[in-house]
Amino acid sequence: MEYKIAVVKGDGIGPEVVDSAIEILDLIGERYNHKFIYKEVLAGGAAYDAFGDPLPKETIEVCKKSHAVLLGSVGGNKWDNLPKDKRPERAILGLRKELGLFANLRPGMLFKALEDACPLKSEIVGEGFDILVVRELTGGIYFGESGIRETDNGPAAYDIETYSEMEVRRIAKIGFEMAMKRRKHLTSVDKSNVLESSRLWRRVVNEVAQDYPEVQVEHMYVDNAAMQVIRDPGQFDVLLTTNLFGDILSDEISMLTGSIGMLPSASLGQTSPGLFEPIHGSAPDIAGKGIANPIATILSAAMMLRFAFDLKEEADDIESAVNKVLDAGLRTADIRGKDEDFLTTQEMTEAIKKTI
Ligand code: NAD
Repeated sequence: MEYKIAVVKGDGIGPEVVDSAIEILDLIGERYNHKFIYKEVLAGGAAYDAFGDPLPKETIEVCKKSHAVLLGSVGGNKWDNLPKDKRPERAILGLRKELGLFANLRPGMLFKALEDACPLKSEIVGEGFDILVVRELTGGIYFGESGIRETDNGPAAYDIETYSEMEVRRIAKIGFEMAMKRRKHLTSVDKSNVLESSRLWRRVVNEVAQDYPEVQVEHMYVDNAAMQVIRDPGQFDVLLTTNLFGDILSDEISMLTGSIGMLPSASLGQTSPGLFEPIHGSAPDIAGKGIANPIATILSAAMMLRFAFDLKEEADDIESAVNKVLDAGLRTADIRGKDEDFLTTQEMTEAIKKTI
């Protein structure tokens, strides 16, 4: 099969870690006889420098015509003082909007070999955890009406949380589909004891659940969910949330896994190509030093194989190679213990390639 991939390397360590992911994809392509056709386009600071625009039209067009988008990361101090519409980060929001990416998938799993990096006690971590946060990405309070109005107590600001049945139904379906591919358990997070929008959320999730009788559904208030991920993270499989609650819970969960250099993510739409990227930023402090951890981006490429191309075995190969390399004690600088040796980006990439 031929797969067209739009490649947006971005800024800082973006190009370094994306090059690693491409090496891994090429190896998988050779092994399984797939052809990955890459088309590189600019976004973020690099695009601003070249065209005065962080998200040029050509980039949007190429992404739309591809089967998937692989992104590094954008941003850096150099562009911090630009006006809002020229800032590199606008490229990410713009791409999400242009591609209609309403579902954000963020796995939070503990790599057994990195258990020490988890801030939780080992008796809480137990056998480890593997949570998939499915966060609604284009609705809710971040996109609702907002403003400032005069009141008897002076100016008052408001941000309105709005969810339509359609928006809840489509993200819930993604949550249930993911649960079906995993351990068939879904926890829907809301605040339905207080919020009307949460009551609608819960009702629609229950309706969608009828189509997935094999999936065990649980509803949890967000305040309880924030406690439970610390108290017993192993209880969760798929965690389905709104935009606001997902923003907070996914960051909380990523902290439990130890390093930001390890975690991938995917953003999916209804029919558009999905976007696959590490959760970390462009790490300007280590850019160009060749020491960035490429694993988050390599695992993002694995998510691309699994979710965009339905290549399960190929994705499994990458994920298992990463685990084996970590089990063998190989580390990049960000995940090594004090005074431990570490591998460069290229050495870690080679080690994973040898293990696949
Ligand atoms: P960051 O994730 O870039 O870096 C935070 C810390 O983690 C730094 O010390 C960095 O060296 C380290 N780190 C991150 N990724 C690493 C990796 N793969 N290997 C080893 N160490 C790694 O976050 P920040 O410093 O807050 O942001 C830097 C820039 O990135 C900013 O311009 C920000 O706006 C941008 N950003 C972009 C995205 C994105 O492109 N999606 C996401 C977050 C931040």
